[in-house]
Amino acid sequence: MEKFGIYIHWPFCLSKCPYCDFFSLPAASWDEKTLESAYIRDLKRIPIRTVTSLFFGGGTPSLMSPRLVHRLITVIRDNFPVASEMEISLEANPDAIDKLKMEAFHAAGINRLSLGIQALNQKDLKFLGRRHTLETALQRIEEMKSVFYNFSFDLIYARPGQTLQAWQNELEEALSFNPPHLSLYQLTIEEETPFARKNIDLPDDEIARSLYEWTLERMEKADCPFYEVSNFARSGFECRHNLLYWEGDDYAGIGPAAHGRLGLIATENPKNLSSWLKGETITTLLSPFERQEEKLIMGLRLKKGISDKGLSPINIQKAIKKGWLKQEKGRIFATREGFMMLNQLILELA
Ligand code: SF4
Repeated sequence: MEKFGIYIHWPFCLSKCPYCDFFSLPAASWDEKTLESAYIRDLKRIPIRTVTSLFFGGGTPSLMSPRLVHRLITVIRDNFPVASEMEISLEANPDAIDKLKMEAFHAAGINRLSLGIQALNQKDLKFLGRRHTLETALQRIEEMKSVFYNFSFDLIYARPGQTLQAWQNELEEALSFNPPHLSLYQLTIEEETPFARKNIDLPDDEIARSLYEWTLERMEKADCPFYEVSNFARSGFECRHNLLYWEGDDYAGIGPAAHGRLGLIATENPKNLSSWLKGETITTLLSPFERQEEKLIMGLRLKKGISDKGLSPINIQKAIKKGWLKQEKGRIFATREGFMMLNQLILELA
């Protein structure tokens, strides 16, 4: 079946984390009915296709009421054909959910929860500007595990001063929960974030590389290997919705700042709540070359890479000579070396 997903962006967070460059707003009060009408208006603009995945991202969508989540899922089920095993994910923060709310989201139709843990030590939770304590983080993972069969949590590593031993201890603790999926990101400093204005001393390339290499090996041993540069899953638990982006499939984005791709049509909602509420959106027609380039950049994040059909050969051949890419059986994929320097590799191919 052709895959098609819907992404719903919830813009509010309880506070802004200093490393984050996602569109988010402080969680003041919001008028749920106004937001609900705007989301439904956006949903009704989407061309009718069979929906294979739905993703509530943000922001902190666990601040949404289970009633609103249920309402949006119902509108989708009433207006679109949906795949029998539609994956419905929701991102949550430990301080913006508890077990009762997890159960309410589950009853509303959420079948995959992803928890933003980020660190399993108190000092680094504070450094990352996270509001939850280590104790809450551990409790929420247990609770999530008791409510959801399909779940994931995120950790950020390669933090200032973090040694290989410290990261090993932390990842071992994460693995003790036997998670079916983990997202493990290296800390990067994004422009225009509070971290970019500070002098953050990240581990040097050699340390970052040893952390990543050990992570790949340890996760492989745990039977939860990487399938995307920062995402690890037991077989069958790969996030189907995120795979849409990396595999170049179509998706609709609703809510402020959400993006969509429908064939060659790119949609982009404003990063501004009131403009989005008024219904503004930007639609651009991409050239087949631009879309192909996007697919290459996204596809190389995947362990299995992408089909080599229709790819412009010049830069790819250069990257193959450098040992960063491999071409085999009609596919192009990054080598271990290529994954270590994926950002540079992508820049060279662009
Ligand atoms: S909670 Fe998530 S989306 Fe919100 S500011 Fe922090 S990292 Fe960004």
